Amino acid sequence: MNLFTETNLSPDILKAIGELGYESPTEIQKQTIPFILSDIRDLIALAQTGTGKTAAFSLPILDMIDDTSRKIQLLVLCPTRELCLQITKDIKNYSKYMKDIKTTAVYGGSSIMDQIRSLKDKPQIIVGTPGRVIDLINRKALDFSAIHWLVLDEADEMLSMGFKDELETILSETPETKQTFLFSATMSKEVERISKNYLTKPHRISVGSINEVKKNIKHEYYVIGYRQKKEALKRLIDSNPNQYSIIFCRTRMETQEVADFLMQNGYAADALHGDLSQAQRDTVMKKFRLKNIDILVATDVAARGLDVNSLTHVIHYSLPDDPEVFVHRSGRTGRAGKDGISIALIKPEESRKLKQIKSVTKIEMHEGKIPTGEDIIKAQVGGVFESLFEIHEDFFEFDDSLIPDLSAFTKEELAHKLLQFQLKDLALYYKDRHDLMDQKLSSRDDDGGSRRDRRDRDRDRGRDRDRGERSERGGKPRRKNEDMVRFFFNLGKKDQLKKLDVLDIINKATSGKSKKRAEIGDIEILEKFSFFEVEKSFKDNVLSNIGSMKFKGKEMRAEVAN
Ligand code: AMP
Repeated sequence: MNLFTETNLSPDILKAIGELGYESPTEIQKQTIPFILSDIRDLIALAQTGTGKTAAFSLPILDMIDDTSRKIQLLVLCPTRELCLQITKDIKNYSKYMKDIKTTAVYGGSSIMDQIRSLKDKPQIIVGTPGRVIDLINRKALDFSAIHWLVLDEADEMLSMGFKDELETILSETPETKQTFLFSATMSKEVERISKNYLTKPHRISVGSINEVKKNIKHEYYVIGYRQKKEALKRLIDSNPNQYSIIFCRTRMETQEVADFLMQNGYAADALHGDLSQAQRDTVMKKFRLKNIDILVATDVAARGLDVNSLTHVIHYSLPDDPEVFVHRSGRTGRAGKDGISIALIKPEESRKLKQIKSVTKIEMHEGKIPTGEDIIKAQVGGVFESLFEIHEDFFEFDDSLIPDLSAFTKEELAHKLLQFQLKDLALYYKDRHDLMDQKLSSRDDDGGSRRDRRDRDRDRGRDRDRGERSERGGKPRRKNEDMVRFFFNLGKKDQLKKLDVLDIINKATSGKSKKRAEIGDIEILEKFSFFEVEKSFKDNVLSNIGSMKFKGKEMRAEVAN
């Protein structure tokens, strides 16, 4: 099957995707389209963003959906609002000529009443984020009795954002006869567990594999200490002119710091992370798509919803913990048949992490030297000519009589003048600057990142769950009690923490002279950290006492959750 016309998809669908310029199915589409059209088994597909996943499941489903019924037949669950809107937009495009098919997006952080109203249109397809779907189930606004297909998109991400309970509730609320398709970039233990419990003898496919992504992406890494990282980043950007890139950071704080640094240094850059409001994020993404900015500094989670195909570079300002995330990030470049470059900045103490990435992903990575001022000017000269020759059309008219007499100059002299003019500021910046010292990977490892990194990251994750989705959630599940304070707690399942332990810890931390016992609310234990609620009047006891206690030898820390 090399062309869409060789599939059995209906003419309405072929016409719509033809208009979008799709000619041949991508690798994952080649595998899923015939499977979904003919098989009733569940499916697990290991695939990353950018492989054509959305069309892979929605085209065959659209082909089979019953447009005479006005009941929900397809439910797609995905982790973020951006992805939810993207999938909805794609499905609407694919079903453009199926006039009786309606698709509705439901997601947190936006008016639930508006969404309930749009459900009155009786869509056959719902694309939603788990928290909002639960809210709507609780309000009896969704009827899942006729669901035929359930898609879990980016299952790994949904689980790592702590949506396990919500997924399990939704999976059990939908009819047993449905067919479930689970898409995930990585096969974590949690994803395996969910698939074991909720999928029946699933067929497995794996595409967009590391090998495929690798071919047209060149991987470079540079060893540099923390203090010189920003300067090294500037040099790497300057030595790769005309780039359109994403710089990945580990935490929101780091993301903002790096973006501020670049903006202060005159780059068309901006930050994308979860501390920004939805409107701010939308603006940044729009600016980036329109290329009003050409460098986006982002956290992994925030960058998920962004769909751009023409990135020239991906820069790993900080390495991720999971090698698959490294592949996922890098796979953002080198799309649509173009070449891409992935650049990683590595601290001397991260040698073990680098080794792990190399061995798990089998990616060939070449160590580079941080460019000198001279290297940078050379690269920039190349960049000026590259952009010059890329211009094939006139953007404005002007009369040749405006050009002065240039006959006194040779063409080389003119080129020199042009380059001096264009690169003056950069040349002045690097003129008296020392080159950065070469650094070596050290044998002393710290592959978990610095304490500060870890703390920022855990706090980020906690906030991710607290944003939009949670605060919008009505009804039973974990509504924040006004008389309670919600705490972020640094221990989680990985520390063998159980609810009883948390009760014990809170009781110890709050048992003062007074006989009154603190009321304890919701306790939520996640993989790496937890949340709990305690009566407001005991807030200070928790804050001041927990820090001096230990659990199984580990230091404990509680902070008021945002
Ligand atoms: P996805 O993995 O679903 O986010 O898709 C990645 C990008 O590839 C999107 O911009 C799609 O519009 C595009 N795409 C999906 N399938 C095809 C195809 N068969 N041919 C060309 N582009 C495609």
